[in-house]
Amino acid sequence: MSAFDIERVRAQFPMLSGREGARKLVFLDSAATSLKPRVVIDAEADFYARDYGTVRRGIYGLSQAATARYEGVREKARSFLNAREVNEIVFTRGTTEAINLVANSFGRSVLKSGDEVLVTAMEHHANIVSWQLVCKAVGATLSVLPIDDSGQLVLAELDRLLSPRVKVVALAHMSNVLGTVNPVAEVARRAHAAGAVVLVDGAQSAAHMPVDVQELGCDFFVCSSHKMCGPSGVGILYGRHEVLEAMPPWQGGGDMIVTVGFDETTFEAPPYRFEAGTPPIAQVIGFGAALDFLDGIGREHLAAHEHGLTDYATGRLHEVPGLRVFGSAPGKGGIIAFVIDGMAPYDIGTLLDEQGIAVRVGHHCAQPLMKRLGVASTVRASFGVYSTRADIDALVEGLHKVRGILS
Ligand code: PMP
Repeated sequence: MSAFDIERVRAQFPMLSGREGARKLVFLDSAATSLKPRVVIDAEADFYARDYGTVRRGIYGLSQAATARYEGVREKARSFLNAREVNEIVFTRGTTEAINLVANSFGRSVLKSGDEVLVTAMEHHANIVSWQLVCKAVGATLSVLPIDDSGQLVLAELDRLLSPRVKVVALAHMSNVLGTVNPVAEVARRAHAAGAVVLVDGAQSAAHMPVDVQELGCDFFVCSSHKMCGPSGVGILYGRHEVLEAMPPWQGGGDMIVTVGFDETTFEAPPYRFEAGTPPIAQVIGFGAALDFLDGIGREHLAAHEHGLTDYATGRLHEVPGLRVFGSAPGKGGIIAFVIDGMAPYDIGTLLDEQGIAVRVGHHCAQPLMKRLGVASTVRASFGVYSTRADIDALVEGLHKVRGILS
């Protein structure tokens, strides 16, 4: 594939070719979930149709072949994130489960009464509530790194907030509302100097820019396959070896043990210690095809494509009278949240849907951020590998029509 032959990319997504008689889809909700290329759909379907077997349980050939493929995806994921070791990759149900795993395993064993977990003002609920539940259980508290009006972290506040009580810093790599790409490596360096571990929520970054967990210097990095052109129901927890090794299991069951007795059980090493039960086998195999697909395009090309679209969209959206965008950080990713004076976001979203344009409307699972922005909800347009300027033109045209109807 050339640097970026967008038409060749789009041709690989059946959802974009349109169902018979259906209007062409203008899909601007990739931050919620991405469309799937044919290779991913085929990898999953072919596995079920021809190669299906369970993993790490069967003596027969099908099971052994499935296990080899499943473990092969773990290696792809290691390479995708540039983790040092393959056993630093744990398969989870997604970002949300990965954060809950860390909060419940690492958090509950490390956090004590009076300790703090530092999050930021732009976090998704997954990276707030998971920690809040554990904090409440152990008597720890959440503290919050603020953002400025452009939607960037106020780093000048970081060192003051990084008291010795802070044991965990949990922050988004890319905001799912503002598009801001946070300076994670800098935050991790300062957090480590203060004795805290760092979890990076990569739900929005992993499919849209190169990610190197060693360069980021984080202890944990989490992401979801379904936002990365892969199947739903699977995601990754990357954990630094030394940290994962010291963590207790959080769910018990098959395949995470060495020996089980009624009095005592001993546990597998990571990653298996954290993968209790039969995993989403076919989804992991589909996820492997998605990682190959993204790597085949090249995440640097993808990032450049989406930055180009973001600049174009920002310019064009400002042609719509009364439209206000939230988040103007330099280098922001392909996510544009906005409101239009005097118009309810839900009305805008519904009227766009009637024109075949799919955007997200709501609080985007970021209610504290909405409060900071002074709104209850926004419209959000977000881009993916298959997005085009024509999609943005359709959005702008659609918004003019919406204004005609609502004003
Ligand atoms: N964090 C961020 C920044 C997100 O955008 C999302 C998905 N909207 C999540 C976490 C949760 O991801 P999932 O629902 O795939 O677990």
